[in-house]
Amino acid sequence: MTLLYRSTRDPQGKTYTASQAVLQGLSPDGGLFVPTEIPKLDFELADLSKFSYQELALHILQAFFTDYTTAELEACVTAAYSTNFTDPAITPLSYQAGNAYLELFHGPTIAFKDLALQLLPHLMTTAAQKNQHDQDIVILTATSGDTGKAAMAGFADVAGTKIIVFYPRDGVSSVQEKQMLTQTGENTYVVGINGNFDHAQTKVKELFNNQILAQDLAAHHLAFSSANSINIGRLFPQIIYYFAAYGQLLRDGKITLGQKINFSVPTGNFGDILAGYFAKKLGLPIKKLICASNKNKVLTDFFNSGRYDRQRPFYVTSSPSMDILVSSNLERLLFYITGEDATKTAALMDQLSQVGHYQLDFEVFQNLGDFAAGFADEVQTATEIKRVATLDDYILDPHTAVASAVAKNYQKASGDLSPMVIVSTASPYKFPQAVLEALETDSQHAEGLEAVTELQAKLQTPLPPTVATLFEAPIRHHLTCDPQDMEEMVRQILKVN
Ligand SMILES: *Cc1c(COP(=O)(O)O)cnc(C)c1O
Repeated sequence: MTLLYRSTRDPQGKTYTASQAVLQGLSPDGGLFVPTEIPKLDFELADLSKFSYQELALHILQAFFTDYTTAELEACVTAAYSTNFTDPAITPLSYQAGNAYLELFHGPTIAFKDLALQLLPHLMTTAAQKNQHDQDIVILTATSGDTGKAAMAGFADVAGTKIIVFYPRDGVSSVQEKQMLTQTGENTYVVGINGNFDHAQTKVKELFNNQILAQDLAAHHLAFSSANSINIGRLFPQIIYYFAAYGQLLRDGKITLGQKINFSVPTGNFGDILAGYFAKKLGLPIKKLICASNKNKVLTDFFNSGRYDRQRPFYVTSSPSMDILVSSNLERLLFYITGEDATKTAALMDQLSQVGHYQLDFEVFQNLGDFAAGFADEVQTATEIKRVATLDDYILDPHTAVASAVAKNYQKASGDLSPMVIVSTASPYKFPQAVLEALETDSQHAEGLEAVTELQAKLQTPLPPTVATLFEAPIRHHLTCDPQDMEEMVRQILKVN
């Protein structure tokens, strides 16, 4: 069976193959690609306890990327999930403080985006071959810290591709910034923006929709594609670890077959948790997906009131990858909760961009029952890091701590004590300063390498290789600009005038 894709905003429902959707990233009308139906998986829940991560990945990807051959997908999976991850399970569970922490940080950039971005370049170059694409792919990405590095790590020196990453200069940790500025690869470009993530992301979306720029690029045999979490080549690979977690819980005797579990997901652009929503639609026994936010709690308010309002103060927090006021992937959820109504979805998105807010009808609001939501402010986040460290000698990064704190509040408020998986999106080594501050050590003002060294003394685990070499690596990128100059910057980098 061929599974086709359509835009969330197109009432006619014009269809695309999976490989076309991967190449385009965003639909021409500004909407996001969704499958025309939810596919059926070719395995039983009980099989989950036997699958390796790679076997599971192949089954899930085959369901969504049906115009790829099995051999093509196998090659993609082999290239993506091997020794570039330091744990053979790829996404192991760690049982701590009464929860199961799903560790998504054993890849090359020690954050969860590696799970999708180690795979995406292979899905994309395969798609280019399948569609006789004779243009080089230019990946254009706005990052709140982790996407940019993870995307570059995936695309660096991949033939037929270039990647340009924009990041907010004042919105990322010093380790994150160092990771980006030291990125190798002749095809990688990094630009610091004088603005926040939403400025960068809004502008990147405009550049994707700029037809004149697209024509100028085409004249130079170049075409944009997106590595942001709106690309189906990033979204669907994230479904794999929800199933993998269930498999490991079964294997470890923590749950019985069919038992419902909860996931608490630290959320920014709504990509990770949306993959959980698809996992549930595919039949994984999930009771609640808990949408955890930091002080930028636009999603908590949305789930609790049905009103999305991006007009509010923007806070820079210790969990910068969640400092987001416009969560792009929420559009796909709107499409589903409106009953796959593209006209309604387009109207809501239009309202959001024109007036800055929208309110769901009561009927639509009632379709949010798969979710619960909450937020943790800076003090609660630090307190949770300290609580789990004291209880179990296990150190959370601030993003994971937000999810952990919100899960605890949810359990208290709801009385729902179903097994809880906390989606752990980054290694504490990625945010050493914030972690040390939370632990209230003597060295709480340590920065950069000093903070990493201090943290290692506490953790007593080997430094991930990427961190170990980070501080000796030379700075290779020096570009900065204002958001309004991003188009000019792109033209200069690509030598397109
Ligand atoms: C990107 C990121 C998130 C948020 O994920 P979304 O898919 O954008 O919701 C959370 N934690 C970390 C560490 C991240 O890098």
